Amino acid sequence: MMGETHVAVGAAAAAVIACPSSFEECLMAAAVGAMGGVVCDLDVRTSRVRRDALRARIAVLVIAVAALIFGVATRDVFGEMLSMSIPIRFVAGVAVLVAVGVFARMSGHRGFSHSLLAMLLFSAGFGLLSIELVLPFAVGFLSHLVLDAVNKKPIKVFYPMGKGIGLGLCRADGLVNRMLLIGGSALLLLEFAFAAGLL
Ligand SMILES: [Zn+2]
Repeated sequence: MMGETHVAVGAAAAAVIACPSSFEECLMAAAVGAMGGVVCDLDVRTSRVRRDALRARIAVLVIAVAALIFGVATRDVFGEMLSMSIPIRFVAGVAVLVAVGVFARMSGHRGFSHSLLAMLLFSAGFGLLSIELVLPFAVGFLSHLVLDAVNKKPIKVFYPMGKGIGLGLCRADGLVNRMLLIGGSALLLLEFAFAAGLL
């Protein structure tokens, strides 16, 4: 599927599974879920897909910055998390994320970066930053694998083993993609509204 769809579905799925009890927690789960939803496509090379991936990364950045600003402003979630992180653990987490990210970037499209192994390694990196980040990240990442698996081009879920999974049920940029984008975005907005006590 396309980048924005992965952002919307990853963020919405993570916010649902994380069961946030406040707006800040909802925003944090959505931000980390969105990261999980787009990190798989670090491996994209062609210019058209790269433009799509860039838009998705900008969307994630916007959500993450909003979560960070809101979290710090309310002295909740992110602020607490960052202030409590042991520096050496924080540095180790960032180092793991960068190392795995570089390897994912260099791997073939829909290879390592679209595998359960990558999910485990990225999750370990996020876990070093804060254990609270692991669940929303893993949910966002898994949503990406599920959405890509229904396309034709196989993803190597069990990298380095197997030929990969590609069910060929729909195009990555067709009607299903648009419906998922709209559905994911609507669900995310509803979750934000619920978490903010507007509904
Ligand atoms: Zn993908």
